[in-house]
Amino acid sequence: MISFEYLAAPDLETAIRAGAAASARFVAGGTTLIDLMKLGVERPAHVVDLNPLTSRDASLATISELPGGGLRVGALAHMSDVAWDARVRDDYPLVSQSLLLAASGQVRNMATMAGNILQRTRCEYFRDTATACNKREPGSGCAALHGINRGHAILGTSEQCIATHPSDLAVALTALDAVVHVRGPNGARTIPFGDFHLLPGAHPEHETVLRSGEVITAIDLPPLSFARHSTYLKVRDRASFAFALAAAAVALDVQSGTVRGARVALGGVGTKPWRSHEAEHALIGRPATNATYRAAADAALAGARPQRQNGFKIELAKRTLTRALTEVSA
Ligand code: SF4
Repeated sequence: MISFEYLAAPDLETAIRAGAAASARFVAGGTTLIDLMKLGVERPAHVVDLNPLTSRDASLATISELPGGGLRVGALAHMSDVAWDARVRDDYPLVSQSLLLAASGQVRNMATMAGNILQRTRCEYFRDTATACNKREPGSGCAALHGINRGHAILGTSEQCIATHPSDLAVALTALDAVVHVRGPNGARTIPFGDFHLLPGAHPEHETVLRSGEVITAIDLPPLSFARHSTYLKVRDRASFAFALAAAAVALDVQSGTVRGARVALGGVGTKPWRSHEAEHALIGRPATNATYRAAADAALAGARPQRQNGFKIELAKRTLTRALTEVSA
């Protein structure tokens, strides 16, 4: 039986206070937490429901334009609402596409933007409490290292964990240098998106830099002149409701046949949303040709360390990135 104390947070301050308690979890859409509670992976003593906050502060679930350009997206905005917002679709197609290629229509109607970037890995062993998993049970081992690891990461892995970060949206956000706004017991702060998620290292149980009690309030999409020329390409085993085997979020600024600006991030292959500055360096100032795009893909995957079953991801990711770059520059 699942047993916990439920609190419908009446205001942000109460939510922060309650969320700072030991073994407390915030819930919004519930599409990750409730699943994991049913599996016995998450066993919170307190569940703090953030949904009531939107009746006091509508900005937590809406999209607004920033004075200097860009958009501020409320943390509790639903994935589907953001994906279909005309400003997001026109100015940040990679964000809209990353959302629409995730999960199912029903999940996208429930899940929130903040919940999406905080979702836990889909590593089968993490979700199976009968197996060893350092992320779920620190120090217990990693069953994936010598088990079924076809879907696992090839970039950013450690001896303790090789789990892939599952979010599509987070890949687009790291390409854009998005900014995460949080409020916590010590006030408000902002976190550059590239610093938000942690590599597993020796402590895969630590996944983000969020501190106890901190609540995400908004995500900023900064102005980027060439973000309109962007795409999110996702390759997976089936066409719907599947996680990426490889994905690429790219934005390109091509002028007179030369790449003047580039943003590149990869999904499905990294232990965190994987920004590739190596690929960007290989693109900028080079001719906008297939040879340049392939060289950028080679640079992006140069540090890949495959496991027994997922070596195919290296070439798959290279082809995915090359195709995304070709499509966005057409
Ligand atoms: Fe756990 Fe990570 Fe190993 Fe999966 S890869 S079993 S999440 S430690």
